[in-house]
Amino acid sequence: MSMDRTAFRQVHHEVDFCVIGGGIAGICAALAAARRGARVVLMHDRPVLGGNASSECRVPICGADRAGQIPYLRETGILEELRLDNLRRNPHREYSIWDLILYEKTQYQPNLTLLLNCSCLDAEVVGDAITTVTGWQLTTQIYHAVTAKIFADCSGDAVLAPLTGHPFRMGREARDEYRESIAPEVADDRTMGMTCFVQAREHDSPQPFEPPAWAYRYESVEQLPFDQHGRYEIAHRAFGLGYWWVELGGEQHSIHDTEVLREELLRIALGVWDHIKNRGDYGADNWALEWIQFLPAKRESRRYIGAHVLTQNDLESEGRFQDVVAYGGWTMDDHHPAGFNAAKLGAPATIYHPTPSPYGIPYRCLYSHEVKNLMFAGRCHSATHSALSSTRVMGTCASMGQAVGTAAALAVARGVGPAGILHHIPALQQTLLADDCYLPWVKQQTPRLTSEADLSASGGEPEPVRDGVNRPVGEDTHAWPCKPGDWIAYTFARETPAESVVLLLDSALEKDIALSLYGGHRNQAEPRVPEVVPRSLRIEGLSRGNWQLLHGVENNHQRFVRIPINRRLDGVRVTIEETWGADTSRVYAFYLTGGHLGGHTTQ
Ligand SMILES: Cc1cc2nc3c(=O)[nH]c(=O)nc-3n(C[C@H](O)[C@H](O)[C@H](O)COP(=O)(O)OP(=O)(O)OC[C@H]3O[C@@H](n4cnc5c(N)ncnc54)[C@H](O)[C@@H]3O)c2cc1C
Repeated sequence: MSMDRTAFRQVHHEVDFCVIGGGIAGICAALAAARRGARVVLMHDRPVLGGNASSECRVPICGADRAGQIPYLRETGILEELRLDNLRRNPHREYSIWDLILYEKTQYQPNLTLLLNCSCLDAEVVGDAITTVTGWQLTTQIYHAVTAKIFADCSGDAVLAPLTGHPFRMGREARDEYRESIAPEVADDRTMGMTCFVQAREHDSPQPFEPPAWAYRYESVEQLPFDQHGRYEIAHRAFGLGYWWVELGGEQHSIHDTEVLREELLRIALGVWDHIKNRGDYGADNWALEWIQFLPAKRESRRYIGAHVLTQNDLESEGRFQDVVAYGGWTMDDHHPAGFNAAKLGAPATIYHPTPSPYGIPYRCLYSHEVKNLMFAGRCHSATHSALSSTRVMGTCASMGQAVGTAAALAVARGVGPAGILHHIPALQQTLLADDCYLPWVKQQTPRLTSEADLSASGGEPEPVRDGVNRPVGEDTHAWPCKPGDWIAYTFARETPAESVVLLLDSALEKDIALSLYGGHRNQAEPRVPEVVPRSLRIEGLSRGNWQLLHGVENNHQRFVRIPINRRLDGVRVTIEETWGADTSRVYAFYLTGGHLGGHTTQ
């Protein structure tokens, strides 16, 4: 029996760029493209955004800084903006507030149409390009058909691969295939599994727990998983987080078996909680369950085969690709396919294989060479199982997502497809850097208006604000050190039209600012705006020998600040008036856009 679409309403959208899946990768792709001028649809099948990072799954976002363990490698750009908003507005670490921030950013982004509760289930391919994708919106019973120039699959499960007949991989490559030492000798279809968390909250008095009859029973800690460093600590502080090793699915089908596995995962998760409460002494007397995850969070399923397949060797050799557009740095955290049941086999639930941090991710892993207008970001990008065991963390997915969205907008503007952007990599890299992404080994080109002006400051060496590196690298801070009351200024040889002032400010890149609940080492992540962030700024323009106030910035909590000026001036001065509490701060970049100097337009 064929599906009768005409029984339901159909709505047609025509845009430049359509993103499927509103996890962290998809959000960053959609926002980046819309902000760079493309008309975008973001189609997402859940009521809340964020994928595994949403309130439905509550996985904390990690990345190349390994939750603050490697200072100054946190992903900036859109993800940093989202996280800093969260610190400002979510002091109690409520996941619903985080959902709200993601919703607000996408719902109210000009150029972006957000389709929530809308599941992509069809794609029309003509020749070697997708013309239209269709999604079913559960809440309205409407079919949304989206025609676009470029599509990005950020669905995690790579839904557009089967829908378009695109080649994909599911499972582990053989060791010989890409010469990966951590790969199994023989290829198989096993993956990393999925997880359901349970989270608890502490109360003032003892809280009994009576497990449901169908929960599993674990009398001894020996029945629970461990890793290569030993048994996991089931300690007081982690009760609010949940246990990632409540994991299954690597030995089944990590898409088709999800509903069956959810039932098993709930039985295990509640059994683990029963063990903690009733069969051991873990200091959990006053803790009671407050949240149970009904949507399993996935780690791995289909992976696209793109123009390049990222491998273990690429990561280990730092990924110094000429077309680097994103980066990672998590260890290869290669979960045993048996997940929770690995303990029964005497095997660790995961093995952490070292990687350098950072390593670069090339553009060629993010687009198809089969379907000419298909891109991908997030865990379905083109990588081997071994490489994915590192790149899957969401800071890295965000970095890929912003690269894909930015590349799509550039491609639309230049009238080329995703592959055509391979010939414009410097432009893509410079656009990403201008939007505060970090690309290891790639310097930002300072706008001419900035590089040709005189730079001075009330104290401290100001030159690093235009050295093209916008965070500490090695011993060099690449920053102008400042304190409240200090100023920094450009003066021009002649009156010059300036469009905007751009500042990259200190946002404590050395700290972990991930959103997570009351758990373990993650309590280090402070749920408030870092004290070093400059809170108020004064922007002045020099005209006829006088400094005049152009803008006062109050209550800033962001690292990336862009202030429009749009006037002819002899100079621009920025004064740091106040921080969020620290005596000292830093400015990583200060530059001016626009202007027409000596016959050259700068940007
Ligand atoms: C238990 C667990 C612990 C983890 N721990 C960490 C950690 O500590 N830190 C970390 O950074 N990472 C961690 N990871 C890995 C990380 O969460 C994932 O790799 C990451 O979420 C991938 O991001 P994504 O945007 O590609 O996909 P997702 O987060 O899966 O988002 C994709 C979204 O697309 C939507 N979608 C799917 N199909 C469709 C469709 N047909 N139409 C429309 N929308 C669709 C999905 O609903 C989903 O919301 C963990 C994973 C798990 C499971």
